[in-house]
Amino acid sequence: MKTPQLFGTNGIRGVPNDYLTTEFSMAIGKAIGTFFNARKIAIARDTRISGDMILLSVASAVLSTGTDTVYLDILPTPALQYYCKNHKIPGIMITASHNPPQYNGIKAIDSDGTEIDEEKEVEIENLIFSKKFKNVPWNEIGQYSSDNTVIDEYINGIMNAVNTGKIKEKKFSVAIDAGNGASYFTSPLLLSKFNCHVVSLNSNPDGKFSSRDSEPKPENLSDLINIMKTKKFDIGIAHDGDADRCVFIDENGNFIDGDKSLALIVKYSINKNDNVVTPVSSSDALKEICNEKNANLILTKVGAPIVARAMINNRAIIGGEENGGIVYGKHQYCRDGAMTLSLMLNLLANENKKLSELLKDIPDYKMIKSSVERKREWNEIYNDLIEKYKNKKMDFTDGVKIYDDNGWTLIRPSGTEKIIRIFSESKSMDDAAEYNRGYSDYLKSL
Ligand code: MG
Repeated sequence: MKTPQLFGTNGIRGVPNDYLTTEFSMAIGKAIGTFFNARKIAIARDTRISGDMILLSVASAVLSTGTDTVYLDILPTPALQYYCKNHKIPGIMITASHNPPQYNGIKAIDSDGTEIDEEKEVEIENLIFSKKFKNVPWNEIGQYSSDNTVIDEYINGIMNAVNTGKIKEKKFSVAIDAGNGASYFTSPLLLSKFNCHVVSLNSNPDGKFSSRDSEPKPENLSDLINIMKTKKFDIGIAHDGDADRCVFIDENGNFIDGDKSLALIVKYSINKNDNVVTPVSSSDALKEICNEKNANLILTKVGAPIVARAMINNRAIIGGEENGGIVYGKHQYCRDGAMTLSLMLNLLANENKKLSELLKDIPDYKMIKSSVERKREWNEIYNDLIEKYKNKKMDFTDGVKIYDDNGWTLIRPSGTEKIIRIFSESKSMDDAAEYNRGYSDYLKSL
């Protein structure tokens, strides 16, 4: 199968007016409209400055293919996906997720609410390259409308997927940092509907992300962490720019690694024999939790759409990634930051314990991440790795995962940059660091 050239792991991305011009956006819009050949396509955007420019170019192009376009305003990506699923229509999201504010991107959503797969991306790209766009006569041109019921529909869907009554009783105190992104309205609203006492940070739409970088990493969340250190809140919550991801701070102001929050939420969401899906890059903490609950853990290649598709194929109840992206099958098959925060509140309410106490029961693994410049073709490096470490246990689901006595190391090329990523995990920080250094030194020597 051909791999897409324009689409990355999460859509077509670039700097507007440089790579992502109005002309290119229109070509993408015409290709998506032609490809889906649907009666209607939903379209939304995050808070980025270039959002209107790209969205209007794409929407206008979609109309030219004879497809009606329903504009849903600024919205988290998962809210658009939920709308697509419920209304059984395809969608287009204008976002560059957690990337810096100068970027933007276009991603296509299937009519079941999941991101389109690589095969469909290649078909859309072929249309972009061949310019064989559908171009309808004047009286068949699509109509542009809006629908403001989307937020209520989305929030009600989430509230119905958890024990809302129990969460409301707890009257949780919550600090939330929307990072000026697409969740600036939806997540504080959802929390207030859960009867939470809410303090919102950066909950104004600001397409320059003036307050903090959009990726919800500890170094970008110092304001939220400082507020949490006042110990006046039960939990701190932060999203990325399009709010498909959600990370947590405990009641003492400690940032919780995505692997740990994933393992915790999975622990309280599954029963015996359930299927759980995660990429090979995830912590063994999740494997231990699944073993403990007699559930099956299915490992996939890295990439949220891949996890979502594997969940559908395996009827998995829950899945997710180490970066705070969690997919809850009962709600919808895509990462959803607001659903993730609701699952966390749900388990806090049910267990009646502090977040830090619940985390004590999650196996503690240490992960070291590094990268080296990729100077040769990945295929050659891949073959060298296999030859060099042929006496060790290896897995080839994505890149090369090599097992040592007390842990593992995943070595894979980045999809967007000319680097090789090296993830090493062990229960001992020293071992993880040693593995990471060893493989990194070998890769540098090639
Ligand atoms: Mg995102």
